[in-house]
Order: sequence, then structure tokens, then C-alpha cells
Amino acid sequence: MKKEINIIFFGAPGAGKGTQAKKISQELSLPHIDTGSLIREAIGNKTELGVKTQQFVESGKLVPDELVIDLIKEKLKVLKDKDFKGFILDGFPRTIPQADALKNMLRELMLELTCVLNIQAPEDILVKRLSSRKLCSNKNCGAIFNLITKKPKEENKCDICNSPLYQRKDDTEEAAKERLSEYHLKTAPLEKYYREQNKLVDINGTKESEDVYNEIIKTLP
Ligand SMILES: [Zn+2]
Repeated sequence: MKKEINIIFFGAPGAGKGTQAKKISQELSLPHIDTGSLIREAIGNKTELGVKTQQFVESGKLVPDELVIDLIKEKLKVLKDKDFKGFILDGFPRTIPQADALKNMLRELMLELTCVLNIQAPEDILVKRLSSRKLCSNKNCGAIFNLITKKPKEENKCDICNSPLYQRKDDTEEAAKERLSEYHLKTAPLEKYYREQNKLVDINGTKESEDVYNEIIKTLP
């Protein structure tokens, strides 16, 4: 029996985690589970959990951990019924209690975590990347560019729809530094948690996207 690949993607904002998770998901045909889309999907499908989730979202409250875990569980159960190859979890867990809950849930489903990919890049690179984002001003397009990692073909013009690009107020250096310090504060314990369980795999996120991808592929069974 071929073993499935169950991965968590971990990394600071700007480390390229989302890009890599998407790419690995496409190349290995592994379902990409990010909690934001999962919540939207459940609400849209009006499942029992979706209705519960909607109540929190509508009242502007944070969706509680147990509910998020239940949503992931529901999703994994559906996936397991088909030709199951594994999953990619992105944006969850973010805290130790979430990680513990996830561990118990995976055990119940008899799934084992293959590894936690820790995409790393030094602070100065992250700040630079985060403050170089440019967004398409056309709301129907919404393309995202980055003057360092994903340059538009023409300066300040969207490749897709030719609309002018703009910079978001919270994509400044100062805001980036704040986001990063908050990230490190919250997730540093989680890094230690997975390292102690021999699940953490450090990936050098400073290289070109293609090289980062190849390094990830090499670490997978
Ligand atoms: Zn555009």
C-alpha cells in the first residue's frame, strides 16, 4: 500500500508558504486545506457545522478551535472515502492547543502527520517582500504582484487587465515588522512543539520559488 502524504505548511508572512503549498498541492494532487476557504465552503454548503460556523462569522466572533477542528475532520472524512493520497494543511494550527486538538483528531481518523514544513527566511528579507506588494486596482481582477518576487511586466500596470497597481496601507515596512513580531510571538512555541516531535523540516525560503519547491520535494517520502 502506498503511504499517503500528510503535510502542514508553516512559515512567516512573506516566506512564500502559500505559493509553495499551492504548487505542491497541484503537482502531487494533494488537497490543499486552508481554514479560510474551508469555513467559506462549509457556510456555502449549509452543512450542520456550516450553519454553526456562520453564526460566529456573522456576529463577528472568532470561530472557536473545536469548530475549526470539526470542519477539518469533516473534510478529511470526505477525502478519505475517495482515493486518498493525503492532504496539505495551511494556516492551521497556529497555537499549541490547536496542535494538540489536531493531533487527537488525526489519531481518531488513523492518519499520521508526515511532516511540518517550516519555510524560513530572515526578517529583513520578509520585511522587504511584504512591503513590496502591489495589487491590481480593478476589483474584479484582484491580481497580486510583488516587486521582488513577482514583478509585473510593465511598471505599475496589471499583467492581466492593464489596470494601474496600488500599494495597500498595511503593506508598509512598519506594518510588516509588526505582523512578523506577532507571528513569531505566537508560533515560536509551535515550532518547538513540532521540532520536539521530530516532525519539523526546515526549508530555506530565501531562494527562488522553483528552488524552494525542489527542496521541498526532496524532503518528501
Ligand atoms: Zn488586474
